[in-house]
Amino acid sequence: MGTDRTDPVQLLLESVKSGTPEDFVVTGIMMRYFHTCHRELWFDSAGVELDRSNTAIQWGTYIDETSYADSTQAVHYGPIAPDIMEDGRVMEVKPASSMEEASKMQLAYYLWYLKHVCGDEREGVLAYPTERTRDSVILTDALEEKVETAIRGIYEVINRDSPPELIEKPYCDSCAYQEFCWSGYNG
Ligand code: SF4
Repeated sequence: MGTDRTDPVQLLLESVKSGTPEDFVVTGIMMRYFHTCHRELWFDSAGVELDRSNTAIQWGTYIDETSYADSTQAVHYGPIAPDIMEDGRVMEVKPASSMEEASKMQLAYYLWYLKHVCGDEREGVLAYPTERTRDSVILTDALEEKVETAIRGIYEVINRDSPPELIEKPYCDSCAYQEFCWSGYNG
């Protein structure tokens, strides 16, 4: 039986397995944006250039890249590059408490991708460097379903002809697209 190309989940699996990413792929950052702001996801997928001079973005990057640099290794699997710990678990760093759900879903997507694309079932760890704590994340059936619902939602958002409606978020001040949203561009 052929792949159901009308289902974004099946389309994603087929495109990564057949090496045709132009059809549809989801990166970790897309999964994160889907859970923070659909407009941010749309701007990112449309290739709107972001403002990397924003200090909050630099801080988030700094935490991601340095906090566990000695104990993890970024491994590339197509469109994702999860940090793998020495014990084989996948780590995602949580830069701020307001981003907890986004970080958890990004990690859950890595676990889902490794299972369904690579046939590699792993556990995850959500790390809070500023609090020096860690939470374990297991890819349950319910979490898998949530990931697949998000994949379908991402497909819908990035295929819109125009950005989603402008709705203020708690993190707009630290968002790379702040200029686009709040300095006159409301397309
Ligand atoms: S500035 Fe706010 S509304 Fe605009 S993309 Fe960023 S988070 Fe979304």
